[in-house]
Amino acid sequence: MFIEVIIPLFLPKNYTWAVPAQMQAAVQPGVRVEVQLKNKRYAGIVKKMLDKKPEEFEPKEILNVLDTEPVVYPQQLDLWQWIARYYMCSEGEVMQAAMPANLKLSSESILIWNEERSYDFSDLTDSEYVVAEALELKKELRLNEVQQLLDASNVYPVIKKLIEKGVCHVWEELKEKYRSKTETFVTLHSKYNNEDELADLLNNWSKAPKQMELLLSYLHLVKTEGEVTQPKLLKKSNATAAQLKGLCEKNILVLEKRATDRIRLLPRDIQIDFTLSAAQQKAFDEVQQGFSEKQVCLLHGVTASGKTEVYTKLIEACITQGKQVLYMLPEIALTSQIIRRLQKHFGGYIAIYHSKFNPNERVEIWNKVKTGETKVVLGARSSLFLPFKDLGLIIADEEHDASYKQQDPAPRYHARDAAIYYASLNNARVLLGSATPSIESYYNCTQQKYALVQLDERYGQVELPQISVIDIKKVPAQDKGKVALSPSLIAAIDTSLQQQKQVILFQNRRGYSPYLICGTCGWIPQCRHCDVTLTYHKAKNSLACHYCGTSYPVINTCAACGSHNFNQKNFGTEKIEELVAEAFPNARISRMDYDSVKGKNDHDALIKLFEQQRIDILVGTQMVVKGLDFEHVNLVGIIDADGILNFTDFRVNERAFQLMEQVSGRAGRRDGKGTVLIQVSNPMHPVLQFVKEHDFTRLFQFELANRKQFDYPPFTRLIQVIFKHKEKHIAEEAANIMMQGLKKDFGNECNGPAQPVVDRVRNQYLWEILIKLPKDAARINLCKREIQQQIVIIQSNKRYRGVTILPDVDPV
Ligand code: ADP
Ligand code: ZN
Ligand code: ZN
Repeated sequence: MFIEVIIPLFLPKNYTWAVPAQMQAAVQPGVRVEVQLKNKRYAGIVKKMLDKKPEEFEPKEILNVLDTEPVVYPQQLDLWQWIARYYMCSEGEVMQAAMPANLKLSSESILIWNEERSYDFSDLTDSEYVVAEALELKKELRLNEVQQLLDASNVYPVIKKLIEKGVCHVWEELKEKYRSKTETFVTLHSKYNNEDELADLLNNWSKAPKQMELLLSYLHLVKTEGEVTQPKLLKKSNATAAQLKGLCEKNILVLEKRATDRIRLLPRDIQIDFTLSAAQQKAFDEVQQGFSEKQVCLLHGVTASGKTEVYTKLIEACITQGKQVLYMLPEIALTSQIIRRLQKHFGGYIAIYHSKFNPNERVEIWNKVKTGETKVVLGARSSLFLPFKDLGLIIADEEHDASYKQQDPAPRYHARDAAIYYASLNNARVLLGSATPSIESYYNCTQQKYALVQLDERYGQVELPQISVIDIKKVPAQDKGKVALSPSLIAAIDTSLQQQKQVILFQNRRGYSPYLICGTCGWIPQCRHCDVTLTYHKAKNSLACHYCGTSYPVINTCAACGSHNFNQKNFGTEKIEELVAEAFPNARISRMDYDSVKGKNDHDALIKLFEQQRIDILVGTQMVVKGLDFEHVNLVGIIDADGILNFTDFRVNERAFQLMEQVSGRAGRRDGKGTVLIQVSNPMHPVLQFVKEHDFTRLFQFELANRKQFDYPPFTRLIQVIFKHKEKHIAEEAANIMMQGLKKDFGNECNGPAQPVVDRVRNQYLWEILIKLPKDAARINLCKREIQQQIVIIQSNKRYRGVTILPDVDPV
C-alpha cells in the first residue's frame, strides 16, 4: 500500500510513502503519519491512497500512524490543493498555515511544559511519564532530546498523547505576542448544581451571615449576568476577599483563573433581543432570496445601517437548521466590541479563533468545530482553515479589506476568494458585507455572478454625515511646513467638545514626523537596509524604518554637509496628538496606532475607554477605521487626504474612497447628524466628490472606466513575480531570464522587470514582473506553469541560487 503525504514544508510536490502491512488498517486520508525525510522526522497528513507503486523510485516506509481518525475532512485537503494551485505554492505551505502548531510535529519542534495546570501523573503510561518528568524539570525539550529518552520508534505517538493530555504544547513563534487577559471567575461548586443540595445548604445556614450574603449576591449575579468575576462579586456584595476565601474553603464557591476571551462557560442558547427595522428585514429577505439563486451575495449597506444585526439574524437562521457559520473579519477589526455583541446573542455556541491564541486553545477550538459542537466561529483569515463539520454560511465582513490577502509567507491567499471556493465544496453560502465594496465584488454583481442587496439607510434613520472639504492651500501656514490643523477644523473640534461629543482625527501616518530634512543641503536620513526615509518618533526620541523596523538614534549632524539644521517635514499621528493637546489643553486625548497599542489588549482597552466617553479626542491611523461603533462621535477630521489620494497603485481611487467613507462612517452613528472635515490641497479630486455625496455607484463607474482603459482587474487577472537578492544586478538578471522565458507565449501581457517604488527592503533589492492576463482559465494556468518552469530553470543556475522568487497571484 502506498500513500501521498503532505508535509509542512516547501516541496515541489508531495512525496509517496509505503505503508507496512501492520499499519494498513489504520491509514486513511486525513490522518497523520510519521515519516522521515533526509534525517528529519515529520508528522505529515495522508492526502490520498495510491493504487500502485511509483515507477521511478522505491518509496520508504512510514514509521507510525498517529491518529485513529482523520484530523481534517476531505474538504480541507481539497481546499489546500486549490490554494496551492491557485496561489502557486506547495500544499505543505498551506498545511503549515492551516494547522495549529500542536497538530504539526517535526524534528524541529520544541515542546513546552504547560504551566497552566498541575498534574497527577497517574494517567500516564511509563514512556509518557519519562517525558513528562523531564519536561516538568526542564520546562522545554527538543524533539531529539525526547528521542534520547525513548525508544526511537515510539517518539511521535508518545508526544501526541502528551499534547492531548495537556501536559505540553508545541512552541510556535508568534508574530506578535498575545497574552489573553485572565480574570478570576467565581463558580458554584459542582455539588450544588443540584437544586435540592443548594436549598439544603441555604436553609441550614447557621454561622457567618456575611458569607451567606456573599453567596446570595453570587446567585443573583449569575442569574442576571451569566458569569461572575471575583472583583465584580466583591464590589457588588461589599464583601472582603477573606470572606470569599472562607466560602471557597468550605467548598461552596470555586475560584478559577480563566482567559476572558474563552467562553466555555456561557450557556448554549440563542438570545436575540432586537427586531430588525423594516429596511433591515427587507435586506434579510433579499439575502435569503439571493441565496436561493446564487451561492454568493453581496450586502452593500451604508455605515451604521446595522449590517451586524442582519448577519446575526442570518446566523440564527443557519444554526437553527443545525448548520455551522463562519464569520470572518479582518484581523484588526476583530475587537472585543464585536466579540461582545455576538457573544450576547450566541453565548456558548460561538468560538473566537485567533492566530495569537496559545496552541492548546487553538486545538481545542479546532476539535469543537470538527465535532460540530461549536456552531459559530468568529475569526480572522486563518479561521477559514478550521475543519467545519457542516458548514452552512460564511460571512466575510468588510470584504473590501486588503488584509484578507496574506502577504508573507506563502500561501499568499485571499481569504475572501478562498472562502468562496471552500463554501462551494460544502454547498454553503457566502455573504460578503461592506459599506464600500471592492470593485471586483461589485463588478461580479453587475455580471450576475453574485446577488446584490442594498441597505441604504442608517439604523434609526440617522442621516449620513455631512462632508466638507477644506482647501489646505488657502490656509496661511505659520511655519514653513504644511498646516496640520486648519482653523476651521479647530473650530469644529471646539464646538463638538462644548456639546460633550467626541472627535476622531484620522492621519494615515504614524510617528511624529515622516522625515527629517537637512535645511542646508536637503539630505534626508534613510534606512541602512531599505530604500526608505526614516520617520522621527518624538516620544522614543528615535528614527524608525517602518519597513524593517530598525530604529536609529536621532541625527543631529547632516551626513552630507555637516550642518545641524534639520527641519521636520510633514506630520504623523504623534505630532497631531501633540498639536491637538496644545490647542485643547483641557481635552482628554489619546492616540491609536501601532506604536501606542502594542498588544491586542491595549487596542481593546482604548476602544473601551473611548466607548465610555473617557476620551474626548482620538487620534489614529487605519486602526480607528475598522468597523467600530461609537455612539457619541459627531466629528471626524481627515487630516491629510493628499497622502491618501496620491498613492501610486492602480487601486488608489478605490482605496481612498473606502478609507474616507469608512472613517466618515464613524461619525453621527446614533443620534444626530455627524460632520466630516477633510483637509486636502486638491479639493476638486473626483474621488472627493464621490465621498462628499456618499456615492459608491459613481465611484464604481468612474473606476471601472479607468480599469477598462488600462487593462486592470476586474477585466484582467494579475500575477506579480518578485525577485529579491542582495545584489541589485543579480536580481535583475534573474528577472530578465524569466521575462525571456515568458515572452514566447505572454509577450504582450508581461510588464517589466521594474523596480518598485521602494526598491530595497532589509538589504534585499527588489525587481518585479507584472503579468496582466485575460480572464481565461486555460491561459492563466498555462502562464502559472510557465512561471513555475522558469523558476526551476533560474534556480538550477548556481549564480541565481540565492535569488528569492515569489509569485503573487491577485496581488493587492
Ligand atoms: P454597520 O455594521 O452596518 O456599520 P452596526 O451593525 O454597527 O452597523 O449598527 C449600528 C448601530 O445601530 C449599532 O450600535 C447597532 O447595535 C444599532 N442597531 C442596528 N440595527 C439595530 C436594530 N435592529 N435594533 C437595535 N439596534 C440596532
Ligand atoms: Zn546637509
Ligand atoms: Zn529598513
